[in-house]
Amino acid sequence: MSTARRQLAVLYSDISTRTQTIAAEHTWWPCKKGCDSCCKNLAAPPAFTPLEWEVLWEEFTQLPLATQHLVRDRVAQLAPNPTPGPVPTPGAVATTPAQGENPPLNTHPPTTEPRYTCPFLNVESGACLVYASRPAICRTYGFYVQRYEGNWCNQILHEVTHREQLVLWGNQETVDSTLRRLSGLPISIHDYFALKSQ
Ligand code: SF4
Repeated sequence: MSTARRQLAVLYSDISTRTQTIAAEHTWWPCKKGCDSCCKNLAAPPAFTPLEWEVLWEEFTQLPLATQHLVRDRVAQLAPNPTPGPVPTPGAVATTPAQGENPPLNTHPPTTEPRYTCPFLNVESGACLVYASRPAICRTYGFYVQRYEGNWCNQILHEVTHREQLVLWGNQETVDSTLRRLSGLPISIHDYFALKSQ
């Protein structure tokens, strides 16, 4: 395994520790198996860094051939068939929180922007077909914030706002800069599948 792959594995492990800690400290946390709302409401077709793709691809190519074909078909159909809103939208934090406090949260009206369902989602079960190899954003979503903006759906926004409990969010900017250092810029799902078809 390359050094970069090992470092990516460490990053995934660190994310897992943070998300499990948040979920353990807040047993009402909505992110758990069966909730596929974020996978069905992507703001754009998936795009991951080359190293993340490499890891994901290894699991993808172990799936039954019929499932692989299904995913490939979905990728081909992805661009022309976005699902219009309303959908959960990320919340934004208005000001820097004082130490020991949750950040104040802004709410946004539901967007009418097109939304996408991830081709790797098993829509019957609500489970990810490549769960063990899913990229970083799929691991951090719902648990991490960047600057004053959260990567979360309105359900989390609602829960956190009304329960007024301290949440030690993960830092999405640190994750993104680590990914850039390890692997460069993201590649879209269309480009990556096209590359693999050559
Ligand atoms: S890769 Fe898996 S976890 Fe990530 S958006 Fe797609 S279905 Fe969801």
